[in-house]
Amino acid sequence: ERGRLARLRHKPAVTLDGQRVDLLANIEMPEDTVGAVKAGAVGVGLFRSEFLFMGRESQRQTRLPDEEEQYQAYKRAVEGMQGMPVTIRTIDVGADKPIDGKVASKQEHLNPALGLRAIRWSLADPAMFLTQLRAILRAAAHGEIHLLIPMLAHVSEIRQTLSLIDFARSELDSRGAVYGKVKLGAMIEIPAAALTLKTFLKYFDFLSIGTNDLIQYTLAIDRADEAVAHLYDPAHPAVLKLVADTIAECRRQGKSVAVCGEMAGDVAFTRLLLGLGLRSFSMHPSRILAVKQEVLRADTSKLEVWAKGVLESDDPASVLAGS
Ligand code: PEP
Ligand code: MG
Repeated sequence: ERGRLARLRHKPAVTLDGQRVDLLANIEMPEDTVGAVKAGAVGVGLFRSEFLFMGRESQRQTRLPDEEEQYQAYKRAVEGMQGMPVTIRTIDVGADKPIDGKVASKQEHLNPALGLRAIRWSLADPAMFLTQLRAILRAAAHGEIHLLIPMLAHVSEIRQTLSLIDFARSELDSRGAVYGKVKLGAMIEIPAAALTLKTFLKYFDFLSIGTNDLIQYTLAIDRADEAVAHLYDPAHPAVLKLVADTIAECRRQGKSVAVCGEMAGDVAFTRLLLGLGLRSFSMHPSRILAVKQEVLRADTSKLEVWAKGVLESDDPASVLAGS
């Protein structure tokens, strides 16, 4: 099976009815681009930049990565992808991704998943956020970077974020630094965001659906709590409706949309997502060939009709299992 899949590496991901599908990689460190290219990824759909900020105590670092260190890391990722686009998500620490106490002030929260994480953390510490934004903008002089913002829900957060991005550019201008253009995107991973897509589409060039958190917040299931893991259901009709509506609205408005949560790398969902109109999947590099095999066997015109039925079902999981 592995050998057979390996032969698909250089084959373009195109469905039986000629639909081109982008299979992208999720990475945690710049060095992961080696595996991404090997697996045949056509870009990085999610660089979880928080990993540059984590585990530093064990490397005897007592501070967060500064602008230069981050710039070098983002530049390495861009160069590693050899001209293919790299989507860099700004820091998403908090909740299940704690940052060391020694390198950043850490507070204990009763409900960390509902607390100060991701963009909330960044907006609470604008100096840290601006440092990251400057590093990303500078790295964009070396290749195609898409800048992705996690965990947005409020228009006020969107506006603050965009004005900080402008401010980071003006800081670079006044320093005479070289930087590049970036496309701007938002993660759709809080139900409130999926329910106010109009606002997001007004401000952003592209959207990326984070199903891991979208499931957690839609179903009120802590994604890291074993006691309720059996209720963490990616096929819950409410989750599928939010995913389907987001894809459909982006397609209506001609905006690009990806899924970058685990659902994108799970072959049980490939046909459904294709049927819902998704053409951009970002996943762990080890999943790419298996998903490509599903894409090569798919006929999206048939899947569209079938996917509508799956959305109507009160038990989509069993429909998917029987498909
Ligand atoms: C997600 O929430 O689906 C996602 C891709 O982000 P993370 O898993 O890093 O929270
Ligand atoms: Mg997330």
